[in-house]
Amino acid sequence: MNIHEYQGKALLAEFGVPVPRGRVAFTVEEAVRAAEALGGPLWVVKAQIHAGGRGKAGGVKLARSIDEVRAHAETLLGKTLVTHQTTPAGKVVRRLLIEEGTNIDREYYIGVVVDRGSGRVVMMASSEGGVEIEEVAAKTPEKIVKATIDPATGMMPYQARQLAYAIGIPKSLVNKATNFMLGLYRAFVEKDASLAEINPLVVTKEGDIVALDAKFAFDANALFRHPEITALSDLDEEDPKEVEASKHGLSYIALDGNIGCMVNGAGLAMATMDIIQFYGGRPANFLDVGGGASKEKVTAAFKIILADPQVKGIFVNIFGGIMKCDVIAEGIVAAAREVGLDRPLVVRLEGTNVELGKEILDRSGLSIVSADSMADGAEKIVALVGEGGNEA
Ligand code: GDP
Ligand code: MN
Repeated sequence: MNIHEYQGKALLAEFGVPVPRGRVAFTVEEAVRAAEALGGPLWVVKAQIHAGGRGKAGGVKLARSIDEVRAHAETLLGKTLVTHQTTPAGKVVRRLLIEEGTNIDREYYIGVVVDRGSGRVVMMASSEGGVEIEEVAAKTPEKIVKATIDPATGMMPYQARQLAYAIGIPKSLVNKATNFMLGLYRAFVEKDASLAEINPLVVTKEGDIVALDAKFAFDANALFRHPEITALSDLDEEDPKEVEASKHGLSYIALDGNIGCMVNGAGLAMATMDIIQFYGGRPANFLDVGGGASKEKVTAAFKIILADPQVKGIFVNIFGGIMKCDVIAEGIVAAAREVGLDRPLVVRLEGTNVELGKEILDRSGLSIVSADSMADGAEKIVALVGEGGNEA
């Protein structure tokens, strides 16, 4: 789960990490009032979307007067920003961060990730802040230094000092940088983040160290113990299909293919996506309806798939162990009756109550192609979706 920059900065502040003073604004009037409350002479008006690269795309603007703040807010609110991190369709700006201007002396990069190789949290730092870190990693990887953190001790001050020296933080500011990194590490661990990126961390002309940008992603599996983080979610930034699916407790991830998938069990769902690809098709989604899904849940899932205009055909692949095939069949029929089934549907059912399930589908009068095996089903749906199946 992702949050906005202004929310990330509020989180950092809680952990003693210095950030510029700022306020969120949803309207031009709020932006003006925020700027007045902060006081000048310099402000930054920043588009809040869940994507980086805003600076280059015109989403970060300096203002030297309240009138300029107003003009920038008018330009940015409602504007669609296309950055290298958004899709080509871009994202609509609905919130702004109005911040006091910072006198930047130098820009650095700090990132925190969970490193799967070592199974530990790793903090990365670089003297090359403010630019795309992917480019630094590709062209000058020696300019990225790392500290692997032992979970038993947490980040040690010496590790932070080493990073600070390695990226060339001025000697007199190393203590401030150390406290910055330790606070960032604590925020990351205590909030169960999966990614934190401060790009840039800046040294100011006044000799302070502040986070000028803040990107956080959180482990969705840990959100149950952080209602305060869940509350920061912005539904405008999420795929509406995924929002709807989560309301029904469905494990659904939207993808960019055209074959809708309804499967039970995460492993079988992954295998189903693989086999669709194997036969030259592209899945439109990952969906695990779960072990003991009710008819209502299956109906909701089928409706979400059908509501996706990208979906040109549907493959239902169910191995009924705990899940009963007749429940799946009832869900499919109910959803198809409600929204209409206007696209090819291939069903492979196996397991508990399979005969009853097939009977329900047969009696429904729906046009269904039945499959004897997973491979057979994948091959059939790819053929039905047709030649265009493998194009974007
Ligand atoms: P991103 O492009 O989405 O990563 O947005 P950032 O928050 O990193 O802002 C992009 C760039 O805007 C930064 O790298 C800075 O160079 C510049 N910037 C942001 N805030 C200020 C500020 O207060 N003063 C000045 N002079 N530049 C700023
Ligand atoms: Mn940035």
